[in-house]
Amino acid sequence: MKKAIFTSLREAPSQHVLLVMVHPWYPLLPPLGLAYVSRFIRSKGYNVLLLDFNAKLYNNCDPERKKFWDISTISRIPYPQLVEIFKEKFPEEIETLISLLAERPEPIIGFSTNYLNVKVASYIARMIKERNSDKLIVFGGPGCFWEHDRKSVIPGSVDFFVIGEGEKPFAELVDNFYKGRSLEGIIGIISSSEDKQGRSSPIMNLDEIPFPDFREFDLKDYGCGEARALPLLTSRGCISKCSFCVDHMMCNPFRMRSPEHVVAEIEHHMKEYNIRNFSFNDLLCNGDLKKLERICDLIIEKKLDIKWGSYAVARGDMSLELLQKMKQAGCTTICYGIESGSNRVLKMIMGCIFLNHLMLSSLFPLKN
Ligand code: SF4
Repeated sequence: MKKAIFTSLREAPSQHVLLVMVHPWYPLLPPLGLAYVSRFIRSKGYNVLLLDFNAKLYNNCDPERKKFWDISTISRIPYPQLVEIFKEKFPEEIETLISLLAERPEPIIGFSTNYLNVKVASYIARMIKERNSDKLIVFGGPGCFWEHDRKSVIPGSVDFFVIGEGEKPFAELVDNFYKGRSLEGIIGIISSSEDKQGRSSPIMNLDEIPFPDFREFDLKDYGCGEARALPLLTSRGCISKCSFCVDHMMCNPFRMRSPEHVVAEIEHHMKEYNIRNFSFNDLLCNGDLKKLERICDLIIEKKLDIKWGSYAVARGDMSLELLQKMKQAGCTTICYGIESGSNRVLKMIMGCIFLNHLMLSSLFPLKN
C-alpha cells in the first residue's frame, strides 16, 4: 500500500521543479492552484514533477484514519497539533516522503499551502532542509498570504514565499534560478527574512493564462465512486467585500474570463480526461451575470452533457430565467452564503445586501 504512494516519486525522471501538496486538505478534487502553476511554468519551457501527497495518503489509509480529513474532526484540533497527530498516525509515510523529497534531483521544491496544511508543510520543509540544505523551498497559496502565517512557519524551513496569484512570480523565480540571476526583487515574491507584505500583480486578462494541466495527477485518486470531477475557475476575486472575509482581499479585483475561453476549457477537459462533472471553484459564479448567461448559452448550444455546481453571492437581479438557463446548462448545485437572518447584521458585514435580496435571489426563484 505504501509503495503505491511513492512509486511515481521514486521512478519519475529528473525535472526542473517539484510541486507538492501535503495533508490535510480536501482530497476529492485535484489541487487547482498546482495545476495552474505547473502548466504556466511548462509554458515557459521548464518541466515540472507534481505530487499530491495529500490525496495519495488519504486514498491509501484505512477508514479509521480517514477521519483526519473530515473537517468536523480536524476543525476541533489546534492547527499546530495537526503536525504531531499526522506524524503519530502516519510515521512511515511522512518519513519516506521527507527522505524522497530530500533525495530527488529537482533543486526547487514548491509547496501549495492553505490554512490547514501550512504547519505540516513547514515541518516537512524543515526536515528536508536538515537533510539537504541545497534545496530551494518555496511556499505559495493562501496559507502564506498573511504575515502572521509566514511568521508562524518554522525558522529555516522556507526560502521564499509567493504572495497572491502564483503563476507569473513563481515562473520568474524559476527562470531566474536557471539563468543564474538574482532571486531577490521579484514582484509577488518575498524572502523568508523580509518583513513586508508584497502581493503579486493580479493578471487582469484571465484568458492569457493557459488552461490548468491535470495530466500529472492520477485522476483515479479523486472523486466519490464514479462521480469524478475537475475543478474550474470562471473568475478570480469577488464583487463583495464582506467584513469577515479574507478571500476577497487575497484575490481582488474581480475578473471574469470570457465565456468562450471557459467553455473551450470545459471541452478540452471533456476530451482530454473524459470528465463530465465540474466544480466551479470561483468565490462566486454570478459576479458578471451577462457572462454567466453567455457561458450557459454556449454550453446549451454546443450540447455539452455536463454537470456543474458553484458558490454564488445573493443578489436581487438573479432572474428566474437565468436560474432556469443555468439548470438547463447542467448546474445542479448553487451554494449561497446567507451569513445572517438579520438585516442589521447583514448591513454591518456585507454593506448593502438585505434579506429581500437573499429571498429574491436564492429562495423564491429556486422554489419555482
Ligand atoms: S461574497 Fe463571499 S467571497 Fe465575496 S466577500 Fe463575501 S464572503 Fe467573501
